[in-house]
Amino acid sequence: MRVLLVEPNYKNKYPPMGLMKISTYHKMLGDEVHFVKGTKPSIDAEVWDRIYVTTLFTFDFAISVEAINHYMRLVDNVDSLYVGGIMASLMPDRVIEATGIARSHILTGLFTDTSVVGDDNNINVDQLPLDYDILEETDYKYPAGDNYFAYTTRGCPNHCSFCAVPILEPNFHVTNNIIEQINTIDRKYGPKQHLLLLDNNVLNTPNLEALVDDLCAAGFGRGAKYVDPGAYNIVMMRYHNGDRADFLDKKMIAYLEKFKKRIKSPEMLDTFLQIVIGAEDTENFAEYMLEHEAELTPIIEKYRSKTAKSRYLDFNQGVDGRKINDEIMAQLARLAIKPLRIAFDDIRLKDKYCAAVRTAHKHGIKEISNYILFNYKDKPEELYERLRINIELNRELGIKIFSFPMKYSPIDRTDRDYIGVNWTKKSIRAISAILQVTKGVVAAGSDFFYKAFGRTLDEYFELLAMPRELIMFRYHFEGNGTTAQWQKLYRSLNEEQKKELMLFVSHTVSELKTLPCPEQFKEILPFYLIKYNGKKDQFTDGATQLSFMDDSDVVIEEE
Ligand code: SF4
Repeated sequence: MRVLLVEPNYKNKYPPMGLMKISTYHKMLGDEVHFVKGTKPSIDAEVWDRIYVTTLFTFDFAISVEAINHYMRLVDNVDSLYVGGIMASLMPDRVIEATGIARSHILTGLFTDTSVVGDDNNINVDQLPLDYDILEETDYKYPAGDNYFAYTTRGCPNHCSFCAVPILEPNFHVTNNIIEQINTIDRKYGPKQHLLLLDNNVLNTPNLEALVDDLCAAGFGRGAKYVDPGAYNIVMMRYHNGDRADFLDKKMIAYLEKFKKRIKSPEMLDTFLQIVIGAEDTENFAEYMLEHEAELTPIIEKYRSKTAKSRYLDFNQGVDGRKINDEIMAQLARLAIKPLRIAFDDIRLKDKYCAAVRTAHKHGIKEISNYILFNYKDKPEELYERLRINIELNRELGIKIFSFPMKYSPIDRTDRDYIGVNWTKKSIRAISAILQVTKGVVAAGSDFFYKAFGRTLDEYFELLAMPRELIMFRYHFEGNGTTAQWQKLYRSLNEEQKKELMLFVSHTVSELKTLPCPEQFKEILPFYLIKYNGKKDQFTDGATQLSFMDDSDVVIEEE
């Protein structure tokens, strides 16, 4: 059977783990499997026996629906197309409405039973290892990089109202052995540097000590190091395993091409070049390399880099700060955690959050990160306060907490336009503009935090009201006096007028140009119509990322 795995063309950080498991499944059955992100002419030119389309964010609904409708035309029978993933699990009825797909072809939840796709076996696809090879078929670079991706637990027993996990995976359970998961990847694809664990609520695990023991045994204890075996050793291992693929040959050729510069011995260089030149005429590259392994390996081993690099483990979905105490932190501190992500979703958790950070610091953890939810039931000042608390904790403890404000979007919305009860469109756009200037991250240093978000709450509220261009090009407009002129007018408004202004300038620029302008805003309105195309200011100190993946997720709020 020829199987196509499709990830719609949305922007995402992690590779499609569900599809990677489905690929392993079909390859186990002897099927031919291909992967595509978005569309590709060579894929469109063929007809497939079965297609799986994954989905992710509900706000990328339109992109996913377009992909489903597109690929429906490429299966020999529309019943051979299946849709799965988070968005489809959360809103199957809307997917049916938009695509006409049968309900039985929307795979909701985890793929544990293959009878749902008409197969007759007892394979639990969700427990299969990931097939990393499918990622070779796309040029898309996932910010999470080429690392281990795994779960040690699934689900979450909590019911935070803003979160989709209670709907998708309400049953918390410990999954398969992490040591075995990592060993399987090592044997099949070669070792990876970092480990990204996607557990939703790992501190619920009944035996944290045993899990930490396993993670240490798997090579992620505190101070863990990693020596890259290099493409030569990995590809050779794969040739020995019987794997044959163009991309493996290409990786080997590219590696050897670069490697020749490292060889200092003229005799070794001569042997090396003879083998490499001979490879150009060979019909079967893999066999040729295996035949010359005994001569090549000593040269590679003599000159390849064996520098030990730090490796890290990241509980990427964060740990529950409310559960952190000395005992738990003593366990976590045994790991090569970087960064430790502690959720800070609600200002009412301030004391517990600060206590968790102090406990982490006491146990020697210095790099902490968090996604900070805003635009939910919170008020704008609570976002500022949470960010400020992090800055002050950094100062007090000499640690680095990097914050990533994340705008809340309800899970039943198919766009990103939701405005929280205490927010206005204008204030959301202002936060988006500030984050664009800081590249999405609120880094540890206090200077640029106070510059970016204001030194006081009054300054912060003034920034939220400031025209977007004046925020984005702060130095330019401060320098030419425009900001001061705007401030003078803004400060002359009373509190009621300031509130009304926020609502009025929540309109888009084109709406503002045509709407009748209230008398009281006649003078200040032109500042909101300014368009400047200069170079954006950057307030970061260069240390924009703490983790091994790009954490930022800045969404441009359209004017
Ligand atoms: S604890 Fe985390 S995973 Fe669990 S429901 Fe709350 S936000 Fe979701």
